[in-house]
Amino acid sequence: MGFKVIVESTEIKFSASHFLKDPLQCTRLHGHNYYVHVELSDDLDENHFVVDFTDLKSKLLSIVKPMDHYVLIPKESNDIDIREEKDCVEVVASKKRYVFPREDVFFLPLPATTSELLAKYIHDKLKEIYNNKKILVRVGESKSTMAVFED
Ligand SMILES: [Zn+2]
Repeated sequence: MGFKVIVESTEIKFSASHFLKDPLQCTRLHGHNYYVHVELSDDLDENHFVVDFTDLKSKLLSIVKPMDHYVLIPKESNDIDIREEKDCVEVVASKKRYVFPREDVFFLPLPATTSELLAKYIHDKLKEIYNNKKILVRVGESKSTMAVFED
């Protein structure tokens, strides 16, 4: 696998709010502009590509954009209680009770919405599409802080 293509985070970003278990300041509901950077490695195909850039970008956007401007809730967390009603979602976390409009919530099949797990979530979605390629996903919460998941 000598070849690699890169989609830089300048183009792929999403804004979302979340909360974490720790540290204390992160238990408060807050938001980030997340930057997503992806690298795919493989041998070249019959067209001498690792992957078609346009195709990769559109697939990546189809994974990332559904989270844009939503409240991210980790559905597999043992630390929060989630109750879904018809039009709203009630979440109890760190002894605080939040009620969100259902349409503003994006559930993630994760135990937490850390950048590390968001990177793995995006990685695993890409892997379903590009299952023969080596994939690295980097999710930044700011321009200087980021988490990476790679296979
Ligand atoms: Zn945060």
